[in-house]
Amino acid sequence: MEKKEMLYEGKAKQVFATDDPEVLLVHYKDDATAFNGLKKGTITGKGAINNRVTNFMMQVLEKEGVPTHFVEELNERDTLVKKVSIVPLEVIIRNISAGSFAKHYGVEEGIVFDEPTIEFSYKNDELGDPLINEYHALALKLATKAEIARIKELAFRTNEVMKKFFKERKVDLVDFKLEFGRLSDGTIVLADEISPDTCRFWDSETHDKLDKDRFRRDLGNVEDAYKEMLKRIIGIEA
Ligand code: ADP
Ligand code: UDP
Repeated sequence: MEKKEMLYEGKAKQVFATDDPEVLLVHYKDDATAFNGLKKGTITGKGAINNRVTNFMMQVLEKEGVPTHFVEELNERDTLVKKVSIVPLEVIIRNISAGSFAKHYGVEEGIVFDEPTIEFSYKNDELGDPLINEYHALALKLATKAEIARIKELAFRTNEVMKKFFKERKVDLVDFKLEFGRLSDGTIVLADEISPDTCRFWDSETHDKLDKDRFRRDLGNVEDAYKEMLKRIIGIEA
């Protein structure tokens, strides 16, 4: 597969065309941002870890009946994915209170929910990814009713698979963000990434944070946390 022109440069990844119109090449960078781009930095080795972790999780999910965009890992930082038209929704699932949930509703972090929650943000950097509900998503024509139903079904299934997977690795899956896209035939698949950038991971015993909150909150040992998650997920050292 030949790498062609860069189509898009985001905060964490670059997206390239290939000679197959249905396939894109994603390149993972070490750049890190938080608070809608206000805080910027570098997490050395992050791109290579997020690439491998994402691809590993996508393959776990495929086996459990969640269709994904994953095609092939090319090297440390580059992966081929099916080209999708991204549904401009950030789909957030929570199992334990943290982050913006704790802040919005005035509760402490660490409350374990009886049932997972789901919420949607309109993926729009200029507007700061505002929180919306399903009716707003329909009004804005971001997705159809059937697509939203399918996205919810796949997001909750992803949560069940990931919760069990991480529990076996002594990690509590606190919350995470997913993105979905449409293949050319309209099929909804899981896209983008699943990594310590997009999930909150707490050590089950010590409750240590093993994710991007170490960067957001200047907790130190950021690189070590990413390496530790690589080890727990894939069993290899970075
Ligand atoms: P951001 O756009 O938030 O800065 P990234 O730096 O991660 O994010 O850039 C990757 C971009 O590629 C995102 O906009 C994401 O929605 C998009 N994307 C992810 N997977 C696919 C795919 N399979 N096809 C097309 N676009 C994708
Ligand atoms: N998240 C993300 N990208 C975003 C916003 C959130 O990957 O643009 C993830 C974040 O890492 C966390 C979950 O979604 O795992 C919930 O984030 P929250 O709403 O609590 O926002 P935050 O406190 O991170 O701003």
